[in-house]
Amino acid sequence: MKTILFSVLLLFFGFNRSYSQINSAADDPLRVIVIFAHPDDGDIKMGGTAAMMAQMGHQVKFLSLTNGNAGHHEMGGGALARIRRAEAEEARKRFGIAEYEVFDYHDAELLPELHVRLDVIRAIREWNADVVFGHRPNDYHPDHRNAGQLVIDSSYMVIVPNVAPDTEPLRNNPVFFYLEDRFTKPNPFSHDVVIGIDEAMDSKLYAMAAHESQFFEWLPWTSHRLDEIPDDSDERIEWMRQAWFGRGVSQAQIAGLTKWYGSERASQFRYTESYEIAEYGRYPTEDEIRMIFPMLPRP
Ligand SMILES: [Zn+2]
Repeated sequence: MKTILFSVLLLFFGFNRSYSQINSAADDPLRVIVIFAHPDDGDIKMGGTAAMMAQMGHQVKFLSLTNGNAGHHEMGGGALARIRRAEAEEARKRFGIAEYEVFDYHDAELLPELHVRLDVIRAIREWNADVVFGHRPNDYHPDHRNAGQLVIDSSYMVIVPNVAPDTEPLRNNPVFFYLEDRFTKPNPFSHDVVIGIDEAMDSKLYAMAAHESQFFEWLPWTSHRLDEIPDDSDERIEWMRQAWFGRGVSQAQIAGLTKWYGSERASQFRYTESYEIAEYGRYPTEDEIRMIFPMLPRP
């Protein structure tokens, strides 16, 4: 009885890599995959966190499920997909992450079909992921919605050997997180983990600016702001800082920051990225969350 009690206590309090259900080996870097719809979504939603994670030793991969070949007002098809792929590779270098893969599913046509799900399962397995990030399955854009559905439908299935048997199953279901969004129906986003990214904000903007055809052409065209885009590359970055991240920190974000950083530090951040724990993945302990997000202070 004493031995059992001791083992249970060790599991709860003696947390380190060798006791956790991690897929990478105890001393190896933690392996993170971020799966989203378009070449730029991951950059917007978690670019600061990803840059910090990579700098602190995690192996980080971005994966865009579509090739971005529809989102432009002056070009499209294969020519646009080639530009998007090159921009993603440049963003990868600027973020300092290990990989930025772009699948060839067509933009604005992504559906949560079985063959795509199997590709997502293979991608998570081949990365030997410990942690997976994706969209929530409620969002204004059908590609985001369907990408979110595909990712969460792959949780658990990644450990089932008879599903996509051409790839080795994972030993443990990864921890899954949702990327932040502003949608409230049927339920608002829960700011379970909020990261203060001020120190990485310049790197995030510089890496995002690699997606020129998105941030300085297509997206401002959709919002009738194309005439505001400066020619100078530094001025473009400042324009992007204001246009995309000038809103300040919300009450929900401050509450999340306070939980992880304490109230004094929480009040100092100007830029944040938030994550919701997706309950179909393995549920992480608080210690494990601090290991996944090594920029969080130790209690
Ligand atoms: Zn998108």
